[in-house]
Amino acid sequence: MRTFTRRPVVYIHDRPYFLQNIVNRRKGVLTLQPIVMKFGGTSVEDAQAYARVARLIESSINERPVVVVSAMSGMTDALLKSVEIAKETGAEQASLILEEHFARHKVVSETLLSQQEIEDFRKEMDAARREVITRLLEIEGRVSTLPALQDEIASCGERLSATLLAAVLRRSGTRARHVDARQCIVTDERFGRAEPLMEETTRRTSSQVGAVLEAGEIAVVGGFIAATVDGRTTTLGRGGSDYTAALIGASLEAREIQIWTDVAGVLTADPRVVRRASTIARLSYAEAAELAYFGAKVLHPKTILPAVVRGIPVRICNSLAPEGGNTAIYFDTEKTPRTVKAIVHKKGITIVHVTSARMLGAYGFLRALFEVFDRHQTIVDLVTTSEVSVSLSLEDTSALALIVKELEEKGIGAVKVEHNRALVCVVGEGLRNTSGIAARVFTAVRDINVMLISQGASSINLTFVVEENLVEQAVRNLHQAFFESNTRELYKSAMRDA
Ligand code: ASP
Repeated sequence: MRTFTRRPVVYIHDRPYFLQNIVNRRKGVLTLQPIVMKFGGTSVEDAQAYARVARLIESSINERPVVVVSAMSGMTDALLKSVEIAKETGAEQASLILEEHFARHKVVSETLLSQQEIEDFRKEMDAARREVITRLLEIEGRVSTLPALQDEIASCGERLSATLLAAVLRRSGTRARHVDARQCIVTDERFGRAEPLMEETTRRTSSQVGAVLEAGEIAVVGGFIAATVDGRTTTLGRGGSDYTAALIGASLEAREIQIWTDVAGVLTADPRVVRRASTIARLSYAEAAELAYFGAKVLHPKTILPAVVRGIPVRICNSLAPEGGNTAIYFDTEKTPRTVKAIVHKKGITIVHVTSARMLGAYGFLRALFEVFDRHQTIVDLVTTSEVSVSLSLEDTSALALIVKELEEKGIGAVKVEHNRALVCVVGEGLRNTSGIAARVFTAVRDINVMLISQGASSINLTFVVEENLVEQAVRNLHQAFFESNTRELYKSAMRDA
C-alpha cells in the first residue's frame, strides 16, 4: 500500500492545526481550513433524504464545507449489473434495468428543483443515459468486460448524485457547484480498484476545489470515481467514497472529515446484544482498524488512512440524529489511555486444532501448515500455538474439507475441527499499559468456558473464543464490567490501575 507522509500537527481544543498554518495565521493570511462532509448512498436515497442532507450542509456553512457524495443507494449495484447483463443478454436488456433508477433521480429533481433546474438536470441525465448505452453496446457480446468500460459506466451514479445535490443546494439559496471528481483524484490504471497518486491528487484538488472555496461556494464532489493522469475514468473500489473524502481532506488539509451515516458513530458493543451500548467518543486509528474486522461497518480503515496519518480526524456522524453522539478517529491515541473502548464479537467461527509431535524442537512446521491454508486461499484470523499443537480460527470454511485432507495426508498433524464458535474481542489502547485488565476480563466471563486466548502483537486487543450460544452472555457480562459499573467502582478500578 502507498505510504502517506505525516505532517507536524498540534491539537487545540481537540482540533488539529497544521503548524505551517499556525505560522501563516501569525502572518495574518490564514483563512479557516475547510471540513469535508461525506454522505453515503442511503443519505441520498430519495427526495426526503436529499432535503435532509441539504439542511445538514447548510447548518455547517460557516465551517467551509466541501461535500463528497455517493451514488443514490442501489445505483452502483444496478450499473454493475447492467454490465453483466450486456455481456450475457445484450445492451438493450441491460439498459432497461437502469430505468427505474433514472426515474428515482427524476422524482428527486421534480420534488426539489425549480422548472428550469428540472429541465437542466433532465438534459444531464439524458446525456448520462446515452453515454451508458453506448458503453453497454461496446460490451455486448464480449466474453470478458474491459475494466475501463465498466468504470466509465459505474461512474455515472456519482456524477448524477453530485450534480443533483449541487442543484438542490442552489435551490435553497446556497451557492454550490458540482466539481467532477475526475478533475481532482488522480490514480494509477488499476481500473475497478485504482490507487491514488497523492502528489498529483493534492495539486489538482487544491486547484479545482480550492477555486470553488475561494469563490465562497460549496464544492460537491462525487465519491468513488477518479481518473488516470491522462484522463481515463477509474474507480476506487466498492465503498470508495470514504476514500475520496479522505483524499480530498488530505489534499486540502481539512480540519476534519465527517462521514455521515445512519448510525450513531461506533458503539461500545453491538446494540442488538447490549441495549445500553453507547457511542465511543474517540478512537485511535489502530482501535478503529481492530473494530472494523469485527463488523463495525461504518468504514474501512484503509480508506481513511491518507487523512488520519496527516493528523486530520475522521468523525462518524449520524444524519438521523445530528446532535447525538459521534465518534472521532485520530491517528494517535490519547496521551494516557486507560480504558477499554469496545467489546465486539463475531459468530460463525470454526476452530481447527492441529496436533503433531513433529513440531517439538523442529523448524519449518508452521510454514508447511500455513502453506496448506495459503494454497486453498483461506484466511486465518486467530492463531495460538503450544509446543505440540496449533489452533487456528477461520470464518470461511468452504475449503475446509480439502484443507483437513491435505494436512492429514501430508502428515502435518492430527486435525480436530470445532464448529459453532464465536470470537469475543476486547479492544482498547488501554490494554497496552494498564495492569489488571485481563484479570477483569476473565473475571467477568468466569462462568463461561474460554477456549483460545490471544493478545495481538499490537497489544490493543484481547481476543478469545467461546461457544457460539454463550457469546451474547459473555459480551453482556463484559459490557457490564467495563461500561456499566457505577462511579464508585470506576473510581476504585482507576485507583487500582494507577
Ligand atoms: N457508490 C459506490 C458503491 O456503491 C461507492 C460508495 O458508495 O462509496 O460502492
